[in-house]
Amino acid sequence: MDYQKLFSEIAVESKKVEAIGEVASYIPELRNVDPDKFGIHLATLDKQNYGLGDYNERFSIQSIAKVLSLTLAFELEEGELWKRVGVEPSGTPFNSLVQLEYENGIPRNPLINAGALVICDVLVSRLKNPKQEFIEFIRNISGISSIDYCDRIAESEKLTSYRNAALINLMKAYGNITNDIQVVLDFYFNLCSIEMSCKELTHAFLFLAANGANPVTGERVVNVSKSKRINAIMQLCGFYDEAGEFAFKVGLPGKSGVGGGIMAIHPGNYSIAVWSPRLNSKGNSHKGMKILEFLTTVTEASIF
Ligand code: GLN
Repeated sequence: MDYQKLFSEIAVESKKVEAIGEVASYIPELRNVDPDKFGIHLATLDKQNYGLGDYNERFSIQSIAKVLSLTLAFELEEGELWKRVGVEPSGTPFNSLVQLEYENGIPRNPLINAGALVICDVLVSRLKNPKQEFIEFIRNISGISSIDYCDRIAESEKLTSYRNAALINLMKAYGNITNDIQVVLDFYFNLCSIEMSCKELTHAFLFLAANGANPVTGERVVNVSKSKRINAIMQLCGFYDEAGEFAFKVGLPGKSGVGGGIMAIHPGNYSIAVWSPRLNSKGNSHKGMKILEFLTTVTEASIF
């Protein structure tokens, strides 16, 4: 694959995509980002790197972090995890409450907010210092020691996060949250506030393109079966009620965040991250989706 040529084509294509959509504003701090930022970075298993635009600039990764919290919880909790959270697509928005009541407080999957809150509860139970140990985990798998939380963003979300408070209270009532609600929510806001660049994201996620082992250090992050399953969950649930659309148009396991980032994996080949803060009505990056669709279309290479 001539990725250099591909990136020249993406440079041209990215200028053609209409500036549609708005930045997320329900978390006040996220309003301050320039809506027209655009970055993309691809890292291959054979250690090649290709970047374009603002690919070195850090942004709020938001729900992309939910894949990494799932990865750590899956390592710590194994099969028990799946009694408390499912692996089915929700077909509902990321912060929806409706399904949770008629499914007795068991979230459909770990990538919607309710499921990510259960994962946070697991990590709060399992780790002595969850905040510190979780960021160390990300620094370790990415090899980048300066990755950190953003207190401003975490605080801003905490002040306005009425829906997440509703979700966690409902699950607590069903007995699916074991720790103090405020402690779990605080950890959740922190993990959503992590700032990383497209390049850093591709390095942190490369293990999912490599059957669970970090191709740079050779260190195993998860076993082959877990790597397969995490990719499967991303494929089915990474874009909420737009997961089908992403599979249909892009055809890679991926995960979006309301900071405008999208992370995607081509198992056996590469990891790729795109950042463009204007979101569509489903809370996913408009331009990010368009560019990834362009990429798998011109390369004629998706997982299908
Ligand atoms: N922190 C955001 C929230 O809980 C994450 C949502 C997202 O990125 N889709 O609402």
